[in-house]
Amino acid sequence: MDPIGVYIHIPFCKSKCPYCDFFSGKGSEAEFDRYIKETVGIINYWSQLCEKPVSSVYFGGGTPSVIGSNRLCELLNAVKSGFNVNSDAEITCEINPESGKSIDFEKMRSCGFNRVSIGLQSAVPRELETLGRIHTAQEAKLTTQRAVSAGIDNVSLDLMIAVPFQTVESLKLSIDFCAQCEVKHISSYLLKIERGTKFYSIKEKLKLPDEDMQADLYLAAVDYLGRYGYDQYEISNFAKKGYEGKHNLNYWRCGEYLGIGPSAHSFYEGKRFYYGRNTQDYYNRKIIDDGTGGDSSEYIMLALRLKEGLRFSEYERRYASPVPSDFLRKAEQFSKQDLMELDESRACLTTKGFLVSNIIISELI
Ligand code: SF4
Repeated sequence: MDPIGVYIHIPFCKSKCPYCDFFSGKGSEAEFDRYIKETVGIINYWSQLCEKPVSSVYFGGGTPSVIGSNRLCELLNAVKSGFNVNSDAEITCEINPESGKSIDFEKMRSCGFNRVSIGLQSAVPRELETLGRIHTAQEAKLTTQRAVSAGIDNVSLDLMIAVPFQTVESLKLSIDFCAQCEVKHISSYLLKIERGTKFYSIKEKLKLPDEDMQADLYLAAVDYLGRYGYDQYEISNFAKKGYEGKHNLNYWRCGEYLGIGPSAHSFYEGKRFYYGRNTQDYYNRKIIDDGTGGDSSEYIMLALRLKEGLRFSEYERRYASPVPSDFLRKAEQFSKQDLMELDESRACLTTKGFLVSNIIISELI
């Protein structure tokens, strides 16, 4: 039986960042308690249905750290007692540097958390302020150090690219800062202005880098992170050797996962489904069917996000047929433009190809 990942969504934040479209809002202590009670019930429901081994558990949000270590451990204990969690499972919790100050990392470690992902976003005060972040870079460093001293040495930092006012130099300062924190992993996403966010309503006024500048920033990030030994293994993810994030790798390899919480998506037994962006509907256990998943096009699309790319033998194993000749013909064309690499065993995008991955992938599938 192939293992699955389990995702738990915590839909609470202390304040809303102006660029964020994740499902989250402020919550009271009483709302946190109700959320835990309902979620433990829903974890129990799924764990009774699912006998598959679990190779990763990921607490995301929102800001999981705002509900505190005791509640996080209560949820993880429910996952561990219900599901068949592998003894070497990767168990991650997202932490905000501000609420991270009150997290009891010793407790988290002994409960089973072995990885934290901290939302730094930038080490430059002006950029943090523009992003509406409520913490300093120093607080992120302190949170990292506290996690490591408690025995959680697998720390990831989030870093944002294409922030208003950002330059290649300021981005390098942020990367220097991450390297000084000695973290094992860095996720580095381009800022996207999503409809419905505060940034969307003021986007004309934001000093956003144009497309050429975005490309310069991205290429500089890949190069500079690489010099510090953070190897790119996915379009937006970089890690020291052996510290690639297992939970997200499972998504990109088209593995199965169960998502618990409002707005959380699942891919399980060939079906896609999710809970809507409504906490009451989630409490009422209303699930929205999203059709079937895991077909060959989706598999190719996800595999090409990874540096390792599409391995032909794995494709053949899954779909009992060779990679379509049309795909190979087009990939050959892209390789001549230095956008893809192709050999007899696999096809992958180059760094330059990652910059225009949407266009390439839509041509290929
Ligand atoms: S802390 Fe994270 S989830 Fe919460 S509003 Fe900010 S970006 Fe969104």
